[in-house]
Amino acid sequence: MHLNTLPRDWDVVIAGAGVAGAVIAYRLACRGLRVLLAEKAAWPRNKACGGCLNAATLRALDHAGLGEVRQLGRPYAQLALASGQRRATLPLPEGRALSRRRLDDWLVRQAMQAGVVFLDSTQVVLRPADTQSGCRRVLLRQRQVQCTVSARLVIGGDGLGSRLLREDAPDELHVADGSRIGVGTTLDEAPAFYTSGRIHMACAAPGYVGLVRVESNRLNIGAALDPDWIKRCGGPVEAVKGVLRQVGFPSWGALDEADWHGTPQLTRRRTRLGSERVLILGDAAGYVEPFTGEGMGWAVAGAAALEPLALEAVFAWRPALVERWTARHARVIRARQRGCQGVAAALRRPRLLQATLPWLDAVPASVAPLTAWLNRDYPCNRREAQ
Ligand SMILES: Cc1cc2nc3c(=O)[nH]c(=O)nc-3n(C[C@H](O)[C@H](O)[C@H](O)COP(=O)(O)OP(=O)(O)OC[C@H]3O[C@@H](n4cnc5c(N)ncnc54)[C@H](O)[C@@H]3O)c2cc1C
Repeated sequence: MHLNTLPRDWDVVIAGAGVAGAVIAYRLACRGLRVLLAEKAAWPRNKACGGCLNAATLRALDHAGLGEVRQLGRPYAQLALASGQRRATLPLPEGRALSRRRLDDWLVRQAMQAGVVFLDSTQVVLRPADTQSGCRRVLLRQRQVQCTVSARLVIGGDGLGSRLLREDAPDELHVADGSRIGVGTTLDEAPAFYTSGRIHMACAAPGYVGLVRVESNRLNIGAALDPDWIKRCGGPVEAVKGVLRQVGFPSWGALDEADWHGTPQLTRRRTRLGSERVLILGDAAGYVEPFTGEGMGWAVAGAAALEPLALEAVFAWRPALVERWTARHARVIRARQRGCQGVAAALRRPRLLQATLPWLDAVPASVAPLTAWLNRDYPCNRREAQ
């Protein structure tokens, strides 16, 4: 749809068509709301990510009515973990691996089938708040054209680099010291060493690199690395190769030619998840290092937790909804992020990991309580009060 012919009044405008934005758009359209989903990148887009939908995330997608996505992904059920020259192969509850280009495009298509209007190459910018108007005005900016529309609610699913609230709440975003940076790509060709059905994870002092086969047997690579290491290596490709080399994993020529994507610093927290008629979701609401591969689960479960509040906000906005959403998000998502942060912090001590790996390799079942805990149901699956 062209901006000139676009309706000017919406129930909900959503900034960002990643997992968070696409899933909440789908859910709210299913509830009969008029939803505009705007994505600043040309679509479909790539994104630095490990591409793993773990068992808990798949169940959260089932709950959202989007569980069919599992058929697009390649199953995996093992983690092949390496640090120094030590290795362990560990069982995982079955997950599915899928490139983000394919996953996010599928989710957006489901949202469109449910009635969402989708615009790509369109940046959302908030206009100043006017508490009397009963709506929030937003500027939709494309390369040549722009227009202003009104929404009863704006949802920020604008990811790690979120800038939606930069005028409303510039001081509420905190980035952790020593935070790593994400890089990733998806490749057509890769050595047979990287077998299907398992996540290959190379851990070293400057960060970790995860490699997994996705649809069409392509290889997805997602890494979290120290910014200093990337600088010292002269760029992300050499930094990834350096980590692979440290654990004896093969690297190959196609890595140099690949289309790499990066992220800002990963570990960040927002103290208040919204402002006047705006609520924030997904990575934009706060994120930690991705070692346990749960970020998409947080985005999907976050959308389920936000859905009833978003409906309330559309029909009767009250500023207290921002505090209620911030508190609910802390219960449903922040609590799980702290667990992931603990695991990631332990992995920052390679000697500890190297001492543990032979023991884990000898008794792989010993990891079951941890993986079961990481894959425990989100509240949306437990149908309990959120
Ligand atoms: C290296 C790495 C590996 C990871 N591995 C995994 C994994 O294996 N499993 C897992 O579950 N999670 C993983 N994650 C986490 C996962 O990628 C994120 O948690 C997930 O993408 C969050 O989705 P989102 O929708 O919040 O943000 P995003 O997917 O980043 O989407 C945000 C979108 O908003 C758009 N946007 C930004 N600003 C605007 C604007 N003003 N207007 C319109 N659009 C805008 C952006 O272009 C982008 O498309 C990993 C992350 C990294 C960095």
